[in-house]
Amino acid sequence: MINFNLPPYVGTEMEYVREACAVNRKICGDGPFTKKCSEWLENRFNSNKILLTTSGTSALELAAILCDLHPGDEVILPSFTFSSTATAFQMVGATLVFVDVCPDTMNIDPDAIERAITDKTKVVVPVHYAGVACDMDRIMDIAERNNLLVVEDAAQGVLSSYKGKALGTIGHFGCYSFHETKNYSMGEGGALSINDSRYCDRAEIIREKGTNRQRFFRGQVDKYTWVDRGSSYLPSDMNAAYLWAQLEHADEINENRLSTWHFYQESLKPLADAGKIELPYIPEGCEHNAHMFYIKCKDLEERGDLISYLKEHGVQAVFHYIPLHDAPAGKMFGRFDGEDRFTTSESNRLVRLPMYYGLGEADRHHVADSVLSFYATR
Ligand SMILES: *Cc1c(COP(=O)(O)O)cnc(C)c1O
Repeated sequence: MINFNLPPYVGTEMEYVREACAVNRKICGDGPFTKKCSEWLENRFNSNKILLTTSGTSALELAAILCDLHPGDEVILPSFTFSSTATAFQMVGATLVFVDVCPDTMNIDPDAIERAITDKTKVVVPVHYAGVACDMDRIMDIAERNNLLVVEDAAQGVLSSYKGKALGTIGHFGCYSFHETKNYSMGEGGALSINDSRYCDRAEIIREKGTNRQRFFRGQVDKYTWVDRGSSYLPSDMNAAYLWAQLEHADEINENRLSTWHFYQESLKPLADAGKIELPYIPEGCEHNAHMFYIKCKDLEERGDLISYLKEHGVQAVFHYIPLHDAPAGKMFGRFDGEDRFTTSESNRLVRLPMYYGLGEADRHHVADSVLSFYATR
């Protein structure tokens, strides 16, 4: 079976994990490898400040706490996303307002954001689906005019950019994931980019159990105390060591994924030209990271047939999100604003093909050939 995903592994991970354990003898948070990773990310993304976290979810939670929301405050997000985008804001008591996506990118529709704004709206959360940027110029313009904070869910967007800017560095905050299903892994892990420097001190405090411990380490205060809300969002330096090995090979991983992505795009183009399927669309100004390769079938039924056919031919293909506004918790904690024109109908047609670092030449041919042969009879 050709797996849908295999976690990235470059080979030097154990060497660095060993170094963290046996040489540094320091595997708690904010050790030498955490420092290396955050500096690398700051330089590469041209970010003001990046803090590693225990997951993409905890990066979103940290951002949600920084937004300082009160009960009744509203947060606008797409319904077509992972549960964490919602849980982070639900946890701080906000009301979730789900809106529709654009069918071509499956990213949040700026017009739907604009229509959903009320005097209670405080935050908008664009999710860069498949590592392809949302329409950030329009979203930042809407946010500015309405005095909203923007939290980018760039969990899938590590190394992607929008008009030359790294995803996650355009809004007030950007959240990344280094879960093993993402392009770069530390098992469980993530990072928060703080793009408005007024939030930097407070972000460090919230991440460190509400204490000013970081300022203490820098000699800015002579003892550290509990000063604010907080939690514990520091990953072990052992996990950071694992991630460091992968960041050293970041471009190689990116290029390898992109080559598979372009191979699929070329191989399946005849089906798209014949109107049988739809291929991903990359808007101008977006450089993506090949986080995902999806196609859209005619309808739900055809998608089910395709997934079964591929399985019989040794290919694991999978669908994606069940829209949040239709999920039990989504109904409890939020509402859908406007009309669901595309969220449900488009997600019903979407199927993801195997995509991971190191997917072999023969395997990717087999995947594409299997999709072609399924459609040969249709
Ligand atoms: C993976 C993902 C997350 C959560 O990241 P974790 O590191 O698994 O907590 C959040 N949002 C989106 C869009 C994701 O794809």
